Amino acid sequence: LKYQMERRENLSALGQLAASIAHEMKNGMTSIRGFTELIKISADETTMSYIDVIDSEMGRMEALMREFLLLSKPTSKEQLPFPLFRTICEVATIMGPQCMQRGMTIFKENHTDKEVTVVGNPQRMKQSLINLVKNAVEASERGTRLMLSIENYDDGHVLLAVTDEGKGMTELQLKQVFMPFFTTKREGTGLGLPFALETAELMGGHLFAKSVPNKGTRIEMLLPVASAEVEGIPAKVGKVI
Ligand code: ADP
Ligand code: MG
Repeated sequence: LKYQMERRENLSALGQLAASIAHEMKNGMTSIRGFTELIKISADETTMSYIDVIDSEMGRMEALMREFLLLSKPTSKEQLPFPLFRTICEVATIMGPQCMQRGMTIFKENHTDKEVTVVGNPQRMKQSLINLVKNAVEASERGTRLMLSIENYDDGHVLLAVTDEGKGMTELQLKQVFMPFFTTKREGTGLGLPFALETAELMGGHLFAKSVPNKGTRIEMLLPVASAEVEGIPAKVGKVI
């Protein structure tokens, strides 16, 4: 619990910080981009190679900023019912080309035999799933499979699982993956899993990471299923846009 509270404080402090500096940084970066474009016009080969480095580092900073901004958005209280499997299918469509490019096959399965309705922010859910799929792709070799599935858990809950056959994680890595900024990647931000965990928690659920080195990883999102009760109390569910 202590760890969870620390993590929460980290995330909200992070959010405030991000909100205040993001704007300033954006202005600075726009200006740098503008001037590098000007330099390109008269650049020789050596200068061009330096500019390539600037471009790629700028890209990394912009990605980091985007993820910062996602975390800094005041967590919308606006929760609405949305179909879980359809959301998974949309994510599979968005990420399909990237998976194909990496020689991977993406599968989706709904083991509940019905469309499951959950309550939350569908945009945020999509972004979280995209993060999980990206992680899976980054950890996997060509020719492996990636599975997005919904499984029955108990009367009130389902499991949404993202399973890969990638390189997996060590015990020590597993312990740290939900800490903001923990990353083993050269260009990682360490914010993908913390963001997905918070998404699950905002919906009254949780996120679990299971992994076997050299075998694969399974990230499970435990989610409460919207009951008739929830749908009957729109005040609690929030505005449906
Ligand atoms: P990032 O992807 O920017 O590093 P994340 O929070 O998304 O940040 O993930 C944190 C770390 O957890 C990754 O750097 C990686 O070491 C590990 N990880 C996450 N997902 C997987 C996966 N599917 N397979 C192997 N390792 C993973
Ligand atoms: Mg990630």
